[in-house]
Amino acid sequence: MLDHTPVAVMERHALRINPAKTCQPIGALYAASGLHRCLPHSHGSQGCCSYHRSHLTRHFREPVMASSSSFTEGASVFGGASNLVQALGTIFSTYGPDVVAVHTTCLSETIGDDIPSIIARAREEGAIPDGKHVIHASTPSYSGSHVTGFAAMAAGMVNYFAEEPTSSRRRKDGRTRVNIVPGFVEPSDMREVRRIAELMNLTPTVLPDTSGVLDAPATGTYEFYPKGGVTVDELRGLGRAVATVALGPQASRAAAVAVENRCYVPREILDLPIGIAATDRFVGVLRRRAAYEVPGELLDERGQLVDLMADARQHLHGKKVAIFGDPDHVVAMAEFVADLGMRPVHILTGTPGKSFEKRVGTLLAGRSPDANVRSRGDLFLLHQWMKNDPVDLLIGTSYGKHLARAEDVPFVRYGWPILDRFGHSYFPSVGYRGGLRLMEKILDALLDRRDRDAPDEEFELIL
Ligand code: SF4
Repeated sequence: MLDHTPVAVMERHALRINPAKTCQPIGALYAASGLHRCLPHSHGSQGCCSYHRSHLTRHFREPVMASSSSFTEGASVFGGASNLVQALGTIFSTYGPDVVAVHTTCLSETIGDDIPSIIARAREEGAIPDGKHVIHASTPSYSGSHVTGFAAMAAGMVNYFAEEPTSSRRRKDGRTRVNIVPGFVEPSDMREVRRIAELMNLTPTVLPDTSGVLDAPATGTYEFYPKGGVTVDELRGLGRAVATVALGPQASRAAAVAVENRCYVPREILDLPIGIAATDRFVGVLRRRAAYEVPGELLDERGQLVDLMADARQHLHGKKVAIFGDPDHVVAMAEFVADLGMRPVHILTGTPGKSFEKRVGTLLAGRSPDANVRSRGDLFLLHQWMKNDPVDLLIGTSYGKHLARAEDVPFVRYGWPILDRFGHSYFPSVGYRGGLRLMEKILDALLDRRDRDAPDEEFELIL
């Protein structure tokens, strides 16, 4: 397995080997899935759409719906305007969504299709019924990653629907409204940030919100449009919030900025609330915005996490960790494992962006000063780092399993995509409860390895 990865690291600028990211439209498709009664639409070839749908389906174990402009040779040369107009007519007459969210692909971006003018033409020609909506995001895959695609579609929702505020920012029941952009996280994470905000006496609008869509229960009846997702009315009301909290700057900042620009709602840009420190910062912002004391239920959850951190410290202290995946995930995870007494020594994301390296440096200042940190990296480089400086644990997506096997390192699957395990979309990683779950996974991986390698005289029942 990966026997020929050389130890010597050579700087590469024009070549990626085993990338640690995928293409923008996947993120746009995922974000659009979190809009109620929305059909995501891929403006490109059927092959792109099939890949994006199947990749999301393999992670969530749910059917991920999307339509395609189905480019063939003609559209590739002359543009896909007539394909999109015809597709919109067919989609609304056959599938009856409230919204179609169009994202572009490499091909349509290279051709230069002007999506807003094609949408206007479709409306003029009657392909879009009255009261129905078509939004779009520009997502060529020769820049960014699935994370920036998510950010672009989340911002697109705001730009198409958010209205300037006309009514009070406080609801009649005295609860204050807040907007939360949850980042490219599991449906269960979106549900958890909503729960935490509600515990803080806030009424949150989570955008997008894939809870109830990609973790919907099996009832025996297939629902083409499950009950979850942020609604168009909720998006129109974004301007009534006291703030927009963006969780994970790479995936969420653009939407928060769009709300601020359109509705004058101030933004709060935070790390993903993974682990105790980042969750404290999230709860602190909610506390300030809600002018409400942290309730006992949340304090108890925090106390449980502190308790487990204290109980397990001797098994974690000084352990060297390699972490890779989406930048917002990796930044937050690096801080959490450092708070657990571990040493994150290799930290890598495939998504470009200098702010990643800066943020990791700030969070780990004085705790892991010699760490390798790289944005726009790949798993080939991460493997070389691991060969040069072996670790006790690898944390990342399913693509890390080959590295873990090659180097015989315990492996915790975290992030997107996870293609070879089950259940991840049902359990949150954010918040204090998410921290407990992550700790359980990390400890299980380390202690299973200890048991595996222990000689008989050190094979202990009680640790
Ligand atoms: S990289 Fe471009 S061509 Fe390839 S699947 Fe993604 S959008 Fe399609």
